[in-house]
Amino acid sequence: MTTSHPPASRDVMTWEWTQFEPFYKQLSDYSLNEDNVSKWLTYWSRLQDLIYERYQRHYVATTLDTTNKQAEKNYKHFLDEIYPRSQAADQEQKEKILQSGIEPEGFEIPLRNMRAQSELYREANLPLLSEELKLASEYSKITSVQTIEWEGQELTIDQVTPLLQATDRSQRERVWRLARQRQLADRSAINDVWVKFMDLRRQLAANADLDDFRTYRWRQLLRFDYTPDDCAEFRQAIREVIVPAAMRTYEQRRERLGLGTLRPWDLNVDPINRPPLRPFGEASELESKTASIFQQMDPQLGAYFESMRKDGMLDLENRKGKAPGAYCTDYTAIRKPFVFMNAVGIHDDVQTLIHESGHAFHVLETANLPYHPQLEVAMEFAEVASMSMEFLAGPYLTTDKGGFYMPAEAARARIEHLEFSLQFWPYIAVVDEFQHGVYENHTAATDPSNCDAKWGDLWDTYMLGVDWSGFEDEKMTGWHRKLHIFEEPFYYVEYGLAQLGAVQVWHNAQSDQAAAIAAYRQSLSLGGTVTLPQLFETAGARFAFDTRTVGEAVALMEKTIEELQS
Ligand SMILES: [Zn+2]
Repeated sequence: MTTSHPPASRDVMTWEWTQFEPFYKQLSDYSLNEDNVSKWLTYWSRLQDLIYERYQRHYVATTLDTTNKQAEKNYKHFLDEIYPRSQAADQEQKEKILQSGIEPEGFEIPLRNMRAQSELYREANLPLLSEELKLASEYSKITSVQTIEWEGQELTIDQVTPLLQATDRSQRERVWRLARQRQLADRSAINDVWVKFMDLRRQLAANADLDDFRTYRWRQLLRFDYTPDDCAEFRQAIREVIVPAAMRTYEQRRERLGLGTLRPWDLNVDPINRPPLRPFGEASELESKTASIFQQMDPQLGAYFESMRKDGMLDLENRKGKAPGAYCTDYTAIRKPFVFMNAVGIHDDVQTLIHESGHAFHVLETANLPYHPQLEVAMEFAEVASMSMEFLAGPYLTTDKGGFYMPAEAARARIEHLEFSLQFWPYIAVVDEFQHGVYENHTAATDPSNCDAKWGDLWDTYMLGVDWSGFEDEKMTGWHRKLHIFEEPFYYVEYGLAQLGAVQVWHNAQSDQAAAIAAYRQSLSLGGTVTLPQLFETAGARFAFDTRTVGEAVALMEKTIEELQS
Protein backbone atom coordinates (compact mmCIF):
# COMPACT_ATOMS: atom_id res chain seq x y z
CA MET A 1 0.00 0.00 0.00
CA THR A 2 2.92 2.23 0.47
CA THR A 3 5.06 0.87 -2.34
CA SER A 4 2.87 0.85 -5.44
CA HIS A 5 -0.54 2.18 -6.36
CA PRO A 6 -3.00 0.40 -8.65
CA PRO A 7 -3.06 1.90 -12.15
CA ALA A 8 -5.88 3.62 -14.07
CA SER A 9 -8.75 1.58 -15.51
CA ARG A 10 -7.82 1.86 -19.19
CA ASP A 11 -4.33 0.54 -18.50
CA VAL A 12 -5.40 -2.78 -17.03
CA MET A 13 -7.52 -3.90 -20.00
CA THR A 14 -4.69 -6.06 -21.36
CA TRP A 15 -3.06 -7.09 -18.11
CA GLU A 16 -2.40 -10.75 -17.39
CA TRP A 17 -3.02 -12.14 -13.91
CA THR A 18 0.68 -11.97 -13.09
CA GLN A 19 0.42 -8.18 -13.29
CA PHE A 20 -2.46 -8.02 -10.82
CA GLU A 21 -0.98 -10.58 -8.46
CA PRO A 22 1.63 -8.40 -6.71
CA PHE A 23 -1.09 -5.95 -5.68
CA TYR A 24 -3.11 -8.71 -4.06
CA LYS A 25 0.05 -10.04 -2.43
CA GLN A 26 0.52 -6.66 -0.74
CA LEU A 27 -3.01 -6.92 0.63
CA SER A 28 -2.42 -10.43 1.92
CA ASP A 29 0.87 -9.50 3.55
CA TYR A 30 -0.51 -6.46 5.29
CA SER A 31 -1.02 -6.74 9.01
CA LEU A 32 -4.46 -5.31 9.71
CA ASN A 33 -5.51 -3.19 12.67
CA GLU A 34 -8.26 -0.69 13.52
CA ASP A 35 -6.11 2.25 12.43
CA ASN A 36 -5.06 1.05 8.99
CA VAL A 37 -8.15 -0.93 7.98
CA SER A 38 -9.69 1.88 5.93
CA LYS A 39 -6.48 2.30 3.99
CA TRP A 40 -6.38 -1.43 3.31
CA LEU A 41 -10.05 -1.50 2.28
CA THR A 42 -9.58 1.44 -0.07
CA TYR A 43 -6.70 -0.31 -1.75
CA TRP A 44 -8.56 -3.61 -2.10
CA SER A 45 -11.65 -1.76 -3.38
CA ARG A 46 -9.58 -0.07 -6.05
CA LEU A 47 -8.44 -3.47 -7.31
CA GLN A 48 -12.00 -4.82 -7.26
CA ASP A 49 -13.24 -1.69 -9.07
CA LEU A 50 -10.62 -2.14 -11.78
CA ILE A 51 -11.21 -5.84 -12.34
CA TYR A 52 -14.97 -5.54 -12.26
CA GLU A 53 -14.90 -2.65 -14.72
CA ARG A 54 -12.69 -4.65 -17.03
CA TYR A 55 -15.15 -7.56 -16.77
CA GLN A 56 -18.00 -5.26 -17.76
CA ARG A 57 -16.07 -3.64 -20.61
CA HIS A 58 -15.29 -7.05 -22.11
CA TYR A 59 -18.91 -8.11 -21.75
CA VAL A 60 -20.25 -4.87 -23.23
CA ALA A 61 -17.94 -5.21 -26.23
CA THR A 62 -19.37 -8.64 -27.03
CA THR A 63 -22.95 -7.34 -26.89
CA LEU A 64 -22.28 -4.25 -29.02
CA ASP A 65 -21.16 -6.49 -31.86
CA THR A 66 -21.77 -10.21 -31.52
CA THR A 67 -19.74 -10.84 -34.70
CA ASN A 68 -16.61 -9.24 -33.22
CA LYS A 69 -14.35 -12.27 -32.82
CA GLN A 70 -11.62 -10.33 -31.02
CA ALA A 71 -14.06 -9.05 -28.40
CA GLU A 72 -15.30 -12.58 -27.82
CA LYS A 73 -11.75 -13.87 -27.50
CA ASN A 74 -10.83 -11.14 -25.00
CA TYR A 75 -13.92 -11.84 -22.93
CA LYS A 76 -13.27 -15.57 -22.86
CA HIS A 77 -9.62 -15.03 -21.97
CA PHE A 78 -10.66 -12.81 -19.09
CA LEU A 79 -13.22 -15.34 -17.83
CA ASP A 80 -10.81 -18.28 -18.11
CA GLU A 81 -7.56 -16.74 -16.97
CA ILE A 82 -8.16 -13.62 -14.89
CA TYR A 83 -11.56 -13.74 -13.25
CA PRO A 84 -11.34 -17.07 -11.33
CA ARG A 85 -7.97 -16.01 -9.93
CA SER A 86 -9.22 -12.60 -8.89
CA GLN A 87 -12.21 -14.26 -7.22
CA ALA A 88 -9.93 -16.57 -5.25
CA ALA A 89 -7.74 -13.61 -4.30
CA ASP A 90 -10.82 -11.65 -3.18
CA GLN A 91 -11.99 -14.63 -1.15
CA GLU A 92 -8.66 -14.58 0.67
CA GLN A 93 -9.17 -10.91 1.57
CA LYS A 94 -12.71 -11.60 2.75
CA GLU A 95 -11.44 -14.29 5.11
CA LYS A 96 -8.75 -11.90 6.26
CA ILE A 97 -11.09 -9.14 7.30
CA LEU A 98 -13.60 -11.58 8.84
CA GLN A 99 -10.87 -13.19 10.90
CA SER A 100 -9.53 -9.80 12.01
CA GLY A 101 -12.81 -9.15 13.84
CA ILE A 102 -12.58 -5.49 12.81
CA GLU A 103 -15.88 -3.80 11.84
CA PRO A 104 -15.04 -0.70 9.80
CA GLU A 105 -17.64 2.05 9.66
CA GLY A 106 -20.05 1.70 6.74
CA PHE A 107 -18.92 -1.86 6.20
CA GLU A 108 -21.37 -3.64 8.53
CA ILE A 109 -23.67 -4.88 5.76
CA PRO A 110 -20.90 -6.10 3.41
CA LEU A 111 -19.37 -7.89 6.42
CA ARG A 112 -22.72 -9.43 7.29
CA ASN A 113 -22.99 -10.76 3.72
CA MET A 114 -19.43 -12.09 3.69
CA ARG A 115 -19.97 -13.85 7.02
CA ALA A 116 -23.14 -15.53 5.75
CA GLN A 117 -21.45 -16.63 2.55
CA SER A 118 -18.51 -18.02 4.40
CA GLU A 119 -20.81 -19.93 6.80
CA LEU A 120 -22.70 -21.43 3.86
CA TYR A 121 -19.55 -22.39 2.01
CA ARG A 122 -18.84 -26.13 1.69
CA GLU A 123 -16.15 -27.54 -0.49
CA ALA A 124 -18.37 -30.56 -1.18
CA ASN A 125 -20.91 -28.21 -2.82
CA LEU A 126 -18.53 -26.77 -5.42
CA PRO A 127 -19.03 -29.63 -7.94
CA LEU A 128 -22.78 -29.56 -7.25
CA LEU A 129 -22.96 -25.83 -7.93
CA SER A 130 -21.27 -26.27 -11.29
CA GLU A 131 -23.59 -29.21 -11.97
CA GLU A 132 -26.49 -26.88 -11.20
CA LEU A 133 -25.21 -24.43 -13.81
CA LYS A 134 -25.01 -27.25 -16.34
CA LEU A 135 -28.59 -28.26 -15.59
CA ALA A 136 -29.59 -24.63 -16.08
CA SER A 137 -28.04 -24.63 -19.51
CA GLU A 138 -29.74 -27.96 -20.29
CA TYR A 139 -33.06 -26.28 -19.50
CA SER A 140 -32.15 -23.22 -21.59
CA LYS A 141 -31.08 -25.41 -24.47
CA ILE A 142 -34.48 -27.10 -24.56
CA THR A 143 -36.47 -23.87 -24.40
CA SER A 144 -34.28 -21.70 -26.63
CA VAL A 145 -34.69 -23.93 -29.70
CA GLN A 146 -38.47 -24.04 -29.44
CA THR A 147 -39.82 -22.51 -32.63
CA ILE A 148 -43.04 -22.54 -34.57
CA GLU A 149 -43.68 -22.22 -38.26
CA TRP A 150 -45.82 -19.20 -39.08
CA GLU A 151 -46.64 -18.06 -42.59
CA GLY A 152 -43.53 -19.73 -43.97
CA GLN A 153 -41.28 -18.29 -41.27
CA GLU A 154 -39.63 -19.97 -38.31
CA LEU A 155 -40.35 -17.97 -35.15
CA THR A 156 -38.99 -18.35 -31.63
CA ILE A 157 -41.46 -18.29 -28.76
CA ASP A 158 -40.38 -14.71 -27.97
CA GLN A 159 -41.09 -13.65 -31.54
CA VAL A 160 -44.63 -14.93 -31.14
CA THR A 161 -45.53 -12.28 -28.54
CA PRO A 162 -46.00 -9.36 -31.01
CA LEU A 163 -48.35 -11.57 -33.07
CA LEU A 164 -50.62 -11.81 -30.04
CA GLN A 165 -51.31 -8.09 -30.53
CA ALA A 166 -53.04 -8.82 -33.85
CA THR A 167 -56.58 -7.47 -34.06
CA ASP A 168 -57.68 -10.64 -35.91
CA ARG A 169 -58.77 -12.89 -33.07
CA SER A 170 -58.60 -16.18 -34.95
CA GLN A 171 -55.02 -15.40 -35.92
CA ARG A 172 -54.15 -14.76 -32.26
CA GLU A 173 -55.74 -18.03 -31.24
CA ARG A 174 -53.92 -20.03 -33.92
CA VAL A 175 -50.52 -18.60 -33.05
CA TRP A 176 -51.14 -19.02 -29.31
CA ARG A 177 -52.12 -22.69 -29.79
CA LEU A 178 -49.08 -23.35 -31.98
CA ALA A 179 -46.71 -21.88 -29.40
CA ARG A 180 -48.24 -23.83 -26.51
CA GLN A 181 -48.28 -27.09 -28.52
CA ARG A 182 -44.62 -26.64 -29.32
CA GLN A 183 -43.83 -26.11 -25.64
CA LEU A 184 -45.88 -29.12 -24.60
CA ALA A 185 -43.85 -31.29 -26.97
CA ASP A 186 -40.91 -30.82 -24.58
CA ARG A 187 -42.94 -31.66 -21.49
CA SER A 188 -41.13 -34.86 -20.61
CA ALA A 189 -37.69 -33.48 -21.46
CA ILE A 190 -38.23 -30.58 -19.05
CA ASN A 191 -39.65 -32.93 -16.41
CA ASP A 192 -36.44 -34.98 -16.64
CA VAL A 193 -34.30 -31.89 -15.99
CA TRP A 194 -36.57 -30.98 -13.08
CA VAL A 195 -36.00 -34.31 -11.32
CA LYS A 196 -32.24 -33.80 -11.61
CA PHE A 197 -32.52 -30.27 -10.18
CA MET A 198 -34.54 -31.55 -7.23
CA ASP A 199 -32.09 -34.33 -6.34
CA LEU A 200 -29.16 -31.95 -6.61
CA ARG A 201 -30.81 -29.28 -4.48
CA ARG A 202 -31.61 -31.72 -1.72
CA GLN A 203 -27.92 -32.61 -1.61
CA LEU A 204 -26.81 -28.95 -1.61
CA ALA A 205 -28.85 -28.33 1.54
CA ALA A 206 -27.72 -31.53 3.23
CA ASN A 207 -24.06 -30.76 2.57
CA ALA A 208 -24.55 -27.37 4.21
CA ASP A 209 -26.09 -29.09 7.25
CA LEU A 210 -29.49 -27.54 6.60
CA ASP A 211 -32.87 -29.23 6.79
CA ASP A 212 -34.22 -28.11 3.45
CA PHE A 213 -33.31 -26.33 0.26
CA ARG A 214 -35.45 -23.29 1.06
CA THR A 215 -33.35 -22.55 4.14
CA TYR A 216 -30.23 -22.99 2.04
CA ARG A 217 -31.47 -20.73 -0.72
CA TRP A 218 -32.69 -18.08 1.73
CA ARG A 219 -29.15 -17.75 3.03
CA GLN A 220 -27.60 -17.92 -0.42
CA LEU A 221 -29.85 -15.05 -1.54
CA LEU A 222 -28.83 -13.08 1.58
CA ARG A 223 -32.43 -12.60 2.66
CA PHE A 224 -31.86 -11.23 6.14
CA ASP A 225 -34.80 -8.88 6.32
CA TYR A 226 -37.77 -11.13 5.64
CA THR A 227 -38.95 -14.70 6.13
CA PRO A 228 -41.11 -17.26 4.30
CA ASP A 229 -43.94 -16.13 6.58
CA ASP A 230 -43.59 -12.56 5.30
CA CYS A 231 -43.91 -13.89 1.75
CA ALA A 232 -47.07 -15.74 2.77
CA GLU A 233 -48.48 -12.52 4.23
CA PHE A 234 -47.65 -10.70 1.00
CA ARG A 235 -49.44 -13.34 -1.08
CA GLN A 236 -52.45 -13.13 1.22
CA ALA A 237 -52.57 -9.37 0.62
CA ILE A 238 -52.29 -9.95 -3.12
CA ARG A 239 -55.18 -12.39 -2.97
CA GLU A 240 -57.36 -10.04 -0.96
CA VAL A 241 -56.87 -6.78 -2.79
CA ILE A 242 -54.99 -7.27 -6.05
CA VAL A 243 -56.72 -10.32 -7.50
CA PRO A 244 -60.11 -8.51 -7.46
CA ALA A 245 -58.51 -5.38 -8.97
CA ALA A 246 -56.83 -7.43 -11.70
CA MET A 247 -60.19 -9.11 -12.40
CA ARG A 248 -61.75 -5.68 -12.90
CA THR A 249 -59.12 -4.87 -15.54
CA TYR A 250 -59.78 -8.19 -17.30
CA GLU A 251 -63.53 -7.65 -17.15
CA GLN A 252 -63.20 -4.21 -18.70
CA ARG A 253 -60.96 -5.63 -21.40
CA ARG A 254 -63.51 -8.34 -22.14
CA GLU A 255 -66.27 -5.77 -22.47
CA ARG A 256 -64.25 -3.47 -24.70
CA LEU A 257 -63.29 -6.31 -26.98
CA GLY A 258 -66.96 -7.31 -27.06
CA LEU A 259 -66.27 -10.92 -26.08
CA GLY A 260 -68.29 -13.49 -24.13
CA THR A 261 -65.22 -14.72 -22.28
CA LEU A 262 -61.62 -13.56 -22.25
CA ARG A 263 -59.27 -16.27 -23.48
CA PRO A 264 -55.48 -16.49 -22.96
CA TRP A 265 -54.87 -15.13 -26.49
CA ASP A 266 -56.89 -11.96 -25.84
CA LEU A 267 -54.51 -10.34 -23.35
CA ASN A 268 -52.04 -8.51 -25.59
CA VAL A 269 -54.27 -6.89 -28.22
CA ASP A 270 -55.30 -3.25 -27.75
CA PRO A 271 -58.81 -3.42 -26.24
CA ILE A 272 -60.26 -0.99 -28.79
CA ASN A 273 -58.21 -2.21 -31.73
CA ARG A 274 -55.94 0.81 -32.17
CA PRO A 275 -52.64 0.32 -34.02
CA PRO A 276 -49.49 0.17 -31.84
CA LEU A 277 -48.00 3.45 -30.58
CA ARG A 278 -45.08 4.82 -32.60
CA PRO A 279 -43.34 7.23 -30.19
CA PHE A 280 -40.23 8.06 -32.25
CA GLY A 281 -38.32 7.44 -35.46
CA GLU A 282 -34.59 7.54 -34.79
CA ALA A 283 -32.93 6.50 -31.53
CA SER A 284 -31.57 10.06 -31.25
CA GLU A 285 -35.16 11.22 -30.86
CA LEU A 286 -35.73 8.65 -28.10
CA GLU A 287 -32.63 10.01 -26.40
CA SER A 288 -33.46 13.71 -26.65
CA LYS A 289 -37.09 13.32 -25.61
CA THR A 290 -36.19 11.13 -22.66
CA ALA A 291 -33.67 13.82 -21.70
CA SER A 292 -36.48 16.40 -21.67
CA ILE A 293 -38.66 14.13 -19.54
CA PHE A 294 -35.98 13.77 -16.86
CA GLN A 295 -35.17 17.49 -17.08
CA GLN A 296 -38.81 18.32 -16.35
CA MET A 297 -39.11 15.66 -13.68
CA ASP A 298 -36.11 16.86 -11.68
CA PRO A 299 -33.10 19.07 -12.54
CA GLN A 300 -30.54 16.71 -10.98
CA LEU A 301 -31.92 13.62 -12.74
CA GLY A 302 -31.94 15.69 -15.92
CA ALA A 303 -28.30 16.59 -15.36
CA TYR A 304 -27.44 12.92 -14.76
CA PHE A 305 -29.04 11.88 -18.03
CA GLU A 306 -27.25 14.71 -19.88
CA SER A 307 -23.92 13.57 -18.45
CA MET A 308 -24.52 10.08 -19.82
CA ARG A 309 -25.24 11.51 -23.27
CA LYS A 310 -22.13 13.66 -23.11
CA ASP A 311 -19.95 10.73 -21.96
CA GLY A 312 -21.26 8.42 -24.69
CA MET A 313 -22.74 6.02 -22.16
CA LEU A 314 -25.94 5.29 -24.11
CA ASP A 315 -26.09 2.75 -26.93
CA LEU A 316 -29.76 2.67 -27.76
CA GLU A 317 -30.54 1.81 -31.36
CA ASN A 318 -31.09 -1.69 -32.67
CA ARG A 319 -28.36 -2.63 -35.17
CA LYS A 320 -27.43 -5.76 -37.04
CA GLY A 321 -25.06 -7.82 -34.94
CA LYS A 322 -26.07 -6.26 -31.62
CA ALA A 323 -27.07 -8.70 -28.88
CA PRO A 324 -30.78 -8.72 -27.98
CA GLY A 325 -32.23 -7.23 -24.80
CA ALA A 326 -31.41 -4.27 -22.60
CA TYR A 327 -29.30 -3.64 -19.52
CA CYS A 328 -27.57 -1.01 -17.43
CA THR A 329 -24.14 -1.82 -16.13
CA ASP A 330 -21.63 0.09 -14.06
CA TYR A 331 -18.01 0.84 -14.80
CA THR A 332 -16.90 0.76 -11.20
CA ALA A 333 -13.43 2.29 -11.55
CA ILE A 334 -14.72 5.45 -13.22
CA ARG A 335 -18.06 5.09 -11.38
CA LYS A 336 -20.18 5.61 -14.45
CA PRO A 337 -23.19 3.70 -15.82
CA PHE A 338 -23.57 2.33 -19.34
CA VAL A 339 -27.00 1.68 -20.87
CA PHE A 340 -27.55 -0.79 -23.68
CA MET A 341 -30.80 -1.49 -25.53
CA ASN A 342 -32.35 -2.26 -28.92
CA ALA A 343 -34.75 0.55 -29.75
CA VAL A 344 -36.95 0.01 -32.80
CA GLY A 345 -39.52 2.78 -32.30
CA ILE A 346 -42.15 1.19 -30.05
CA HIS A 347 -43.51 2.21 -26.65
CA ASP A 348 -41.64 -0.60 -24.92
CA ASP A 349 -38.43 1.21 -25.87
CA VAL A 350 -39.53 4.35 -24.03
CA GLN A 351 -40.40 2.27 -21.00
CA THR A 352 -37.08 0.38 -21.15
CA LEU A 353 -34.94 3.51 -21.39
CA ILE A 354 -36.75 5.13 -18.46
CA HIS A 355 -36.33 1.92 -16.44
CA GLU A 356 -32.63 1.47 -17.21
CA SER A 357 -32.04 5.17 -16.49
CA GLY A 358 -33.26 4.52 -12.94
CA HIS A 359 -30.51 1.92 -12.56
CA ALA A 360 -28.05 4.41 -14.05
CA PHE A 361 -29.06 7.06 -11.48
CA HIS A 362 -28.32 4.49 -8.80
CA VAL A 363 -24.76 4.10 -10.12
CA LEU A 364 -24.28 7.87 -10.25
CA GLU A 365 -25.69 8.42 -6.76
CA THR A 366 -23.28 5.87 -5.26
CA ALA A 367 -20.22 7.29 -7.05
CA ASN A 368 -18.77 8.57 -3.78
CA LEU A 369 -19.04 5.40 -1.71
CA PRO A 370 -15.44 4.48 -0.89
CA TYR A 371 -15.57 0.67 -0.82
CA HIS A 372 -16.43 -1.60 -3.74
CA PRO A 373 -18.61 -4.06 -1.75
CA GLN A 374 -20.80 -1.11 -0.69
CA LEU A 375 -21.99 -0.88 -4.31
CA GLU A 376 -23.84 -4.20 -4.14
CA VAL A 377 -27.52 -3.43 -3.63
CA ALA A 378 -30.10 -6.14 -2.91
CA MET A 379 -32.46 -6.75 -5.83
CA GLU A 380 -35.53 -5.94 -3.71
CA PHE A 381 -34.32 -2.36 -3.66
CA ALA A 382 -32.30 -2.12 -6.89
CA GLU A 383 -35.55 -2.47 -8.82
CA VAL A 384 -37.17 0.29 -6.74
CA ALA A 385 -34.64 2.64 -8.36
CA SER A 386 -35.75 1.65 -11.86
CA MET A 387 -39.47 0.95 -11.38
CA SER A 388 -40.02 4.28 -9.54
CA MET A 389 -38.89 6.09 -12.67
CA GLU A 390 -41.48 4.24 -14.77
CA PHE A 391 -44.28 5.49 -12.53
CA LEU A 392 -42.89 9.00 -12.04
CA ALA A 393 -42.31 9.55 -15.76
CA GLY A 394 -45.99 8.96 -16.55
CA PRO A 395 -47.14 12.61 -16.41
CA TYR A 396 -44.21 13.74 -18.65
CA LEU A 397 -44.90 11.51 -21.65
CA THR A 398 -46.87 14.21 -23.49
CA THR A 399 -45.28 16.51 -26.08
CA ASP A 400 -46.05 19.65 -24.06
CA LYS A 401 -43.65 18.27 -21.42
CA GLY A 402 -41.02 17.44 -24.01
CA GLY A 403 -42.24 13.83 -24.30
CA PHE A 404 -43.50 11.64 -27.12
CA TYR A 405 -47.28 11.66 -27.23
CA MET A 406 -50.52 13.49 -27.70
CA PRO A 407 -52.55 13.38 -24.45
CA ALA A 408 -54.76 10.45 -25.55
CA GLU A 409 -51.73 8.38 -26.58
CA ALA A 410 -49.94 9.13 -23.33
CA ALA A 411 -53.04 8.10 -21.39
CA ARG A 412 -53.18 4.84 -23.30
CA ALA A 413 -49.50 4.13 -22.55
CA ARG A 414 -49.94 4.86 -18.86
CA ILE A 415 -53.08 2.75 -18.54
CA GLU A 416 -51.28 -0.18 -20.17
CA HIS A 417 -48.37 0.21 -17.77
CA LEU A 418 -50.60 0.46 -14.70
CA GLU A 419 -52.76 -2.50 -15.73
CA PHE A 420 -49.74 -4.61 -16.52
CA SER A 421 -48.22 -3.73 -13.13
CA LEU A 422 -51.43 -4.72 -11.36
CA GLN A 423 -51.71 -8.00 -13.24
CA PHE A 424 -48.06 -8.82 -12.57
CA TRP A 425 -48.52 -9.19 -8.77
CA PRO A 426 -50.89 -12.20 -8.88
CA TYR A 427 -48.51 -13.94 -11.27
CA ILE A 428 -45.62 -13.26 -8.88
CA ALA A 429 -47.73 -14.81 -6.11
CA VAL A 430 -48.25 -17.97 -8.19
CA VAL A 431 -44.52 -18.32 -8.87
CA ASP A 432 -43.68 -17.64 -5.23
CA GLU A 433 -46.24 -19.91 -3.59
CA PHE A 434 -45.40 -22.68 -6.06
CA GLN A 435 -41.77 -22.68 -4.99
CA HIS A 436 -42.51 -22.59 -1.26
CA GLY A 437 -44.81 -25.57 -1.81
CA VAL A 438 -42.17 -27.41 -3.82
CA TYR A 439 -39.39 -27.16 -1.27
CA GLU A 440 -41.65 -27.70 1.73
CA ASN A 441 -42.61 -31.01 0.10
CA HIS A 442 -39.36 -31.89 -1.59
CA THR A 443 -40.08 -35.59 -2.09
CA ALA A 444 -43.57 -35.15 -3.48
CA ALA A 445 -42.46 -32.26 -5.71
CA THR A 446 -39.75 -34.38 -7.27
CA ASP A 447 -42.65 -35.98 -9.13
CA PRO A 448 -43.55 -33.45 -11.86
CA SER A 449 -47.20 -34.48 -11.95
CA ASN A 450 -47.58 -33.13 -8.40
CA CYS A 451 -46.05 -29.86 -9.56
CA ASP A 452 -48.54 -29.70 -12.43
CA ALA A 453 -51.42 -30.13 -9.99
CA LYS A 454 -50.05 -27.50 -7.61
CA TRP A 455 -49.50 -24.95 -10.39
CA GLY A 456 -53.00 -25.57 -11.71
CA ASP A 457 -54.51 -24.96 -8.27
CA LEU A 458 -52.54 -21.77 -7.78
CA TRP A 459 -53.50 -20.54 -11.23
CA ASP A 460 -57.18 -21.00 -10.33
CA THR A 461 -56.61 -19.10 -7.08
CA TYR A 462 -54.71 -16.06 -8.31
CA MET A 463 -55.19 -15.72 -12.06
CA LEU A 464 -58.94 -15.17 -12.17
CA GLY A 465 -60.67 -13.38 -15.02
CA VAL A 466 -59.30 -15.37 -17.96
CA ASP A 467 -60.97 -18.53 -19.27
CA TRP A 468 -58.49 -21.39 -19.71
CA SER A 469 -61.09 -24.15 -20.16
CA GLY A 470 -60.07 -26.78 -22.70
CA PHE A 471 -56.39 -26.06 -22.06
CA GLU A 472 -55.75 -28.01 -18.88
CA ASP A 473 -52.32 -29.29 -19.91
CA GLU A 474 -51.24 -25.86 -21.11
CA LYS A 475 -52.35 -24.35 -17.81
CA MET A 476 -50.80 -26.94 -15.49
CA THR A 477 -47.41 -26.86 -17.21
CA GLY A 478 -47.11 -23.09 -16.83
CA TRP A 479 -44.23 -23.61 -14.41
CA HIS A 480 -42.21 -25.10 -17.27
CA ARG A 481 -42.26 -21.68 -18.91
CA LYS A 482 -40.87 -19.76 -15.94
CA LEU A 483 -37.09 -19.80 -16.19
CA HIS A 484 -36.55 -18.61 -12.62
CA ILE A 485 -38.16 -21.73 -11.14
CA PHE A 486 -35.47 -23.79 -12.83
CA GLU A 487 -32.45 -21.52 -12.91
CA GLU A 488 -32.94 -19.03 -10.07
CA PRO A 489 -35.13 -20.69 -7.42
CA PHE A 490 -37.09 -18.36 -5.13
CA TYR A 491 -35.82 -15.35 -7.02
CA TYR A 492 -39.06 -13.64 -8.08
CA VAL A 493 -40.86 -12.14 -5.10
CA GLU A 494 -38.19 -9.41 -5.31
CA TYR A 495 -40.02 -7.87 -8.26
CA GLY A 496 -43.26 -7.73 -6.30
CA LEU A 497 -41.64 -6.12 -3.26
CA ALA A 498 -39.76 -3.61 -5.40
CA GLN A 499 -42.88 -2.68 -7.33
CA LEU A 500 -44.66 -2.01 -4.05
CA GLY A 501 -41.78 0.29 -3.06
CA ALA A 502 -41.91 2.08 -6.40
CA VAL A 503 -45.65 2.74 -6.15
CA GLN A 504 -45.08 4.25 -2.69
CA VAL A 505 -42.40 6.59 -4.07
CA TRP A 506 -44.82 7.61 -6.81
CA HIS A 507 -47.56 8.06 -4.19
CA ASN A 508 -45.31 10.49 -2.28
CA ALA A 509 -44.67 12.43 -5.48
CA GLN A 510 -48.42 13.13 -5.83
CA SER A 511 -48.25 15.54 -2.91
CA ASP A 512 -44.62 16.77 -3.11
CA GLN A 513 -42.61 15.67 -6.10
CA ALA A 514 -39.40 17.51 -5.16
CA ALA A 515 -39.38 15.95 -1.69
CA ALA A 516 -40.20 12.50 -3.08
CA ILE A 517 -37.30 12.65 -5.54
CA ALA A 518 -34.94 14.02 -2.90
CA ALA A 519 -35.78 11.02 -0.68
CA TYR A 520 -35.45 8.66 -3.66
CA ARG A 521 -32.00 10.06 -4.48
CA GLN A 522 -30.94 9.93 -0.83
CA SER A 523 -31.89 6.25 -0.60
CA LEU A 524 -30.02 5.43 -3.81
CA SER A 525 -26.90 7.14 -2.52
CA LEU A 526 -26.71 4.70 0.41
CA GLY A 527 -25.85 1.86 -1.98
CA GLY A 528 -25.64 -1.37 0.01
CA THR A 529 -24.56 0.14 3.32
CA VAL A 530 -27.86 -0.30 5.22
CA THR A 531 -30.60 -2.93 5.52
CA LEU A 532 -33.55 -3.25 3.14
CA PRO A 533 -36.06 -1.72 5.60
CA GLN A 534 -33.69 1.25 6.04
CA LEU A 535 -33.33 1.71 2.28
CA PHE A 536 -37.10 1.67 1.79
CA GLU A 537 -37.64 4.01 4.71
CA THR A 538 -35.09 6.50 3.38
CA ALA A 539 -36.93 6.41 0.05
CA GLY A 540 -40.11 7.35 1.92
CA ALA A 541 -41.61 3.85 1.64
CA ARG A 542 -42.29 0.85 3.83
CA PHE A 543 -40.62 -2.50 3.19
CA ALA A 544 -44.00 -4.09 3.57
CA PHE A 545 -46.03 -7.24 3.01
CA ASP A 546 -49.34 -6.22 4.54
CA THR A 547 -52.80 -5.72 3.13
CA ARG A 548 -52.96 -2.06 4.08
CA THR A 549 -49.82 -1.06 2.17
CA VAL A 550 -50.76 -3.21 -0.80
CA GLY A 551 -54.31 -1.88 -0.69
CA GLU A 552 -53.14 1.75 -0.74
CA ALA A 553 -50.95 1.04 -3.75
CA VAL A 554 -53.78 -0.61 -5.64
CA ALA A 555 -56.20 2.20 -4.78
CA LEU A 556 -53.85 4.79 -6.25
CA MET A 557 -53.29 2.71 -9.37
CA GLU A 558 -56.99 2.10 -9.97
CA LYS A 559 -57.84 5.75 -9.31
CA THR A 560 -55.21 6.85 -11.82
CA ILE A 561 -56.44 4.37 -14.44
CA GLU A 562 -59.96 5.73 -13.97
CA GLU A 563 -58.80 9.35 -14.33
CA LEU A 564 -56.83 8.53 -17.45
CA GLN A 565 -59.84 6.80 -19.00
CA SER A 566 -62.17 9.73 -18.52
ZN1 LIG B 1 -34.25 -3.50 -13.77
